[in-house]
Amino acid sequence: MTATHVPGLPRVEDGQLISTNPATGEEAGRVPVADETAVTDAVTRARAAGLWWQGLGWEGRKTRLLRWRSLIVHRIDELAALTHGESGKPVTDGLMEAAAAIEHLDWAARNAKRVLGPRRVRTRLLVAEHTGHLEYQPYGVVGVIGPWNYPILTPVGPISGALAAGNAVVLKPSEYTPMVGQWLADTFAEVVPEHPVLQVVHGLGDVGGALCRAGVHKIAFTGSTATAKRVMAACAENLVPVVLEAGGKDALIVDADADVAAAADAAVWGAMTNAGQTCVGIERVYAVAPVYDRFVEAVVAKAATLRTGEEIGPITMPKQLGIIREHIEDALAKGGRAVLGGADAVQAPYVSPTVFVDVPADAAAQREETFGPTLTITKVADADEAVTRANDSPYGLGGAVFGKRDAIRIARRLRSGMVAVNGTLTFVGMGNLPFGGVGESGFGRIHGEDGLREFARAKSITVRRGPSLLPAMTFERTPAQVRQIVKALRLLYGRKP
Ligand code: NAD
Repeated sequence: MTATHVPGLPRVEDGQLISTNPATGEEAGRVPVADETAVTDAVTRARAAGLWWQGLGWEGRKTRLLRWRSLIVHRIDELAALTHGESGKPVTDGLMEAAAAIEHLDWAARNAKRVLGPRRVRTRLLVAEHTGHLEYQPYGVVGVIGPWNYPILTPVGPISGALAAGNAVVLKPSEYTPMVGQWLADTFAEVVPEHPVLQVVHGLGDVGGALCRAGVHKIAFTGSTATAKRVMAACAENLVPVVLEAGGKDALIVDADADVAAAADAAVWGAMTNAGQTCVGIERVYAVAPVYDRFVEAVVAKAATLRTGEEIGPITMPKQLGIIREHIEDALAKGGRAVLGGADAVQAPYVSPTVFVDVPADAAAQREETFGPTLTITKVADADEAVTRANDSPYGLGGAVFGKRDAIRIARRLRSGMVAVNGTLTFVGMGNLPFGGVGESGFGRIHGEDGLREFARAKSITVRRGPSLLPAMTFERTPAQVRQIVKALRLLYGRKP
């Protein structure tokens, strides 16, 4: 590294993308940058590979996906070390991230046939002489564009769904974490050497744009809301469908009957794991008045024990340090009080844990994604006010509620795709639960049954099983038959419920 190179900032030299550690500047690896032709070629290869993969059938794909899962389990230390090497995240966080990825891969592999496979559907009156058949067929080639903050889990979620559904995948990992993306493609090729069913193309944002236009049949994007809009615009050119997993500003509600110590513990973890660089990280807390003081005290006590460089890793993307600093300064300028950390918290490449109270609702720290180990705590009169305030956000990704009697009712009222009750981020750990946002957090779902269907098209087939007694769909029907059909309709559907 020379003095002009900012640690962690990806750079391109001689057609190579060079990935470095944000804390040390040490090189984590280098990979060739794909030009437009290389991206198109990858998609062309993927089309052929996808047909082969589809031809393996449910069991053939399941066996291979489970072999890949086992390989990842056996080499989990290597993967976590690689993640640490280029994103800076603590190795233990990398291990847990890989564990969640393994869970989703396992679930998708085991459940694809049940969720997507052919089934008969019940016959209906109008065409009673036909049977109905439904199945979900793969799109062909799915392009996956990933972020850097969870470089294992965020691509493996959609990759698992897409592959299990029978698609080939071309992955464009974040330029901040290309080596993890390369590792995923390389290890997959170890267990599926026959065809390039999972490929990787590297580069900056323009390579992601090229992938959207390279003839893929669907794009699964995870990243910021601003980029999600660009991706959707690029995909609109060819009517390529998209699933968009974008940013968030998740809230935690602490109700009057909450276990305050547990809530504080979970709030600190939800806000500060991965140095706060989590799409479903807790950035805002609304605590009801009776528990507010105790909660603030417990959060501060807990967060104060976290050490930068240990539990709190570096900020992976150097320019994010400026955004975190702006949010801290804005919160203070608008009358917020830092009860931990604050003005001096940003010491590149680290940000020390920062907890704010009394931050007005219009401050950036309450409205925009901060993506650092910071948390605002706001006192509210009751759970109703907490819900109103939590929902007053253009984002709606995850969220959390601590409480007993009303906790699930409160969770239902949060405008978001997922909510953890008496925990934070826990929905990420269940392969059978869908994941995705509303509003500016995106749309569509990865993980779970919905996450499998996201990567397949419903295919409906009707099959005649006998002659038509009351033919509805032919010019051969007589006026008397039409009257009989209407009579049957009256009989069956005419009654007022
Ligand atoms: P980003 O939007 O900057 O980049 C994401 C990916 O998009 C990268 O691979 C990038 O190269 C690519 N890209 C950039 N410009 C592009 C373009 N014009 N066309 C196509 N691709 C392009 O996001 P990031 O900084 O890598 O990730 C952080 C963001 O991701 C945060 O906002 C976070 O909340 C969000 N995120 C969301 C989820 C989720 O599941 N909802 C998960 C993790 C992260």
